[in-house]
Amino acid sequence: MGDLQIAVVGGGIGGLTAALALQRAGFGVTVYEQAPQLAEVGAGLSLSPSAAHALRHLGLGPALDSFSYLPEDQAVRHYRDGRALQWTNRGRALLEKYGERYYLVHRADLHDALAAAVRANDPAAIRLNKHFDSLVQDANEVRLRFADGTSASAGLAIGADGSRSLMRQALFGDSGPKYTGYIAWRGLVPMDQVPPAVLDPPSGIFVGPGHLVNRYPVRSGKTLNFVAFAERAAWSEEGWSIRSTVDELMQEFEGWHPEVRSFLAAVPPELLFKWGLFDREPLTRWSSGRVTLLGDAAHPVLPFLGHGAVLAIEDGVVLARALAAEPSLEAALARYEAARIPRASFVVRESRNAVKVFHSHEPEHYASKTGGQAADERLGLFDYNPTTVSI
Ligand SMILES: Cc1cc2nc3c(=O)[nH]c(=O)nc-3n(C[C@H](O)[C@H](O)[C@H](O)COP(=O)(O)OP(=O)(O)OC[C@H]3O[C@@H](n4cnc5c(N)ncnc54)[C@H](O)[C@@H]3O)c2cc1C
Repeated sequence: MGDLQIAVVGGGIGGLTAALALQRAGFGVTVYEQAPQLAEVGAGLSLSPSAAHALRHLGLGPALDSFSYLPEDQAVRHYRDGRALQWTNRGRALLEKYGERYYLVHRADLHDALAAAVRANDPAAIRLNKHFDSLVQDANEVRLRFADGTSASAGLAIGADGSRSLMRQALFGDSGPKYTGYIAWRGLVPMDQVPPAVLDPPSGIFVGPGHLVNRYPVRSGKTLNFVAFAERAAWSEEGWSIRSTVDELMQEFEGWHPEVRSFLAAVPPELLFKWGLFDREPLTRWSSGRVTLLGDAAHPVLPFLGHGAVLAIEDGVVLARALAAEPSLEAALARYEAARIPRASFVVRESRNAVKVFHSHEPEHYASKTGGQAADERLGLFDYNPTTVSI
């Protein structure tokens, strides 16, 4: 199948990782991205050892090392008095056990590195302003139609167009988003605006009744990223970038520890956004004929284990391995699904469960509910290497 031409719809972290892995396996790849410019939203991302294995395998180890913040420890603290409820190692102990550690990055830094690597292999590989609209396929090819009236054909099309995927809808319909009852704010604070006392340790979570604040450095420690979650009975708008105000955020976190309030208050208003969290029913298959899905398009996941991008990165590497290993497309896609659906479904399910512990209305019992271990490690999520796992 070395002459297979592959179209990837969506140039996010999942689509670009898949494109790079497929190029390195010898396939011709074109990425069709709807945005007029390649850009990621301003937010942080935590990457587990499995994602780090994948990125290093794709030649991005030096880039990852250059822009990541490497936490040694992570603390969970009480929202009101700041006492440590749990303390876990995210550095040396993980490195010894899993061969990789935990990395904290700005999404745009990772996205830029992926795009540069894809373009270094083929300067014309990424086409912008291509909003996928519909598809038709037969035994020989799949034809994609875009909103600008153009079309493209390929031997395989991959839908990497995110949680509101039109590719998924074209294949399987859409069960429709369900509002979860949680909203979130995200913000980036220049580190020189953050009181040093807040950074003990630099990576950590504050838990309170129906609320949670996760904060960690990105950009080699130059910026503090935070995500603040709250329960909210109703929400209508689906989308990542709704404006908020610092006043609204401060009112929501009234009575929280002064250290939390100090960095929430310091967020520049133009770097503060809010959104409602929506969930979708998981799919039982991801492929149909010459089309398959990956990342949030295949398995939208709630952010409570910080594993959505990790799964998307793993998908790309495993899909490229399956296509390189099998003589037929049908067998390769079956192998990809068999390797990936169980893991992704497990993470989707556990991310739903994780919210119950995070949004504890009795934070003092946090450690007894978690067994004193970070949820992702306790669930065995780090014990996976997409570059070597048997598929
Ligand atoms: C608050 C929050 C925190 C998170 N934290 C973490 C974390 O710490 N660690 C982690 O691993 N994950 C995290 N995630 C999850 C992670 O952000 C997503 O799972 C990940 O971005 C999915 O990547 P993707 O490439 O599948 O989709 P996306 O990043 O959504 O990319 C989809 C791309 O497709 C394009 N597109 C969409 N529609 C079309 C179309 N019709 N035609 C052409 N192009 C199209 C979009 O413009 C976009 O570029 C978090 C998510 C949230 C909400």
